[in-house]
Amino acid sequence: MQEKWNKRPLIISGPCSAETQEQMIETATRLAKIGKVDVLRAGIWKPRTKPGMFEGHGITGLPWLLEAKKLTGLPTTVEVATAKHVEEALKFEVDMLWVGARTTVNPFSVQEVANALRGVDMPVLIKNPINPDLELWSGGIERLQQVGIMQVGMIHRGFSSYGNTEFRNAPMWHLPIEMKRRYPGMPLICDPSHICGNRSMLQSVSQKSIDLDFDGLMLESHIDPDKAWSDAKQQITPERLLDMLNELVWRHESTTRQEFITALTTLREQINQVDDELMTLLGQRMKLSDKIGEYKKDNNITILQTNRWNDILDRAFQKGEMLGLTKEFITKYYDAVHLESIHHQNKIMNS
Ligand code: PEP
Ligand code: MN
Repeated sequence: MQEKWNKRPLIISGPCSAETQEQMIETATRLAKIGKVDVLRAGIWKPRTKPGMFEGHGITGLPWLLEAKKLTGLPTTVEVATAKHVEEALKFEVDMLWVGARTTVNPFSVQEVANALRGVDMPVLIKNPINPDLELWSGGIERLQQVGIMQVGMIHRGFSSYGNTEFRNAPMWHLPIEMKRRYPGMPLICDPSHICGNRSMLQSVSQKSIDLDFDGLMLESHIDPDKAWSDAKQQITPERLLDMLNELVWRHESTTRQEFITALTTLREQINQVDDELMTLLGQRMKLSDKIGEYKKDNNITILQTNRWNDILDRAFQKGEMLGLTKEFITKYYDAVHLESIHHQNKIMNS
């Protein structure tokens, strides 16, 4: 991305939806006043889960955004889902576009947006799809890059799941981390508003994203959050946003401080050593499992024995607790080891 957009951290804020001219102007003015916001966002076309909810003003709202930009100097960004949205946003001098989570799931829509952007030089951010499918997210990025968009960035807004969880959209942090690995240097912005779905967790989710080396934040802000026409529970006032941003501890990926580098190198060497030992032990564990597989085969015994498996897990939970390992980690780790072990024994049984 160009210098201006490459700023770290890049802070994008504004209401979920542009509701009225007054609301847009007052939001922009108050956001500009706090002096920490780089880009003004507003939803103009709102993809809503159910019909009958506020779906955005469409083209009526775009002049309000342009007026807010002229008044405050803040560049603007809107969500686009169709070629027409792109065309209208460009007409009203929107500076940056984003593709929403419900659009990223649909390759036809992403391609339509991409085609409308051929020959246009502007930053385009693409949100993760609502389902945890990194190929769809990557596919969206590639569609934008293929039409010549040089300034593509990603927004992590969490993933849908069934039932009530503490998050509106589960962050599944390992997924954006994998995207960072796939696209080194591509800006990755976190959208804590849509991850949390409420105000109380915004601070901790924002901090977590900074700790994971994200490049910026997109946070919804409203002049009167409780009265917002969409996403009321997760929006905060511009002033509250300032407090929140001030409380965050901004970290860097690296430093040139020699003392830190030496300490880190030593610890990393120790980690490599422990990892090697763990790998050797896992190899040995599978060899033992192979032997058991042979005995089971000779005696016609099933691979899976539920009682034995429960015993192993109980022992692991007890030991893990003493060592400060969470039950969640132990479960995941043992599931993986168990699957590998079954795989080994399966091979032996059927050889
Ligand atoms: C939004 O940013 O207001 C929005 C609709 O987000 P998402 O696409 O992440 O649901
Ligand atoms: Mn929203």
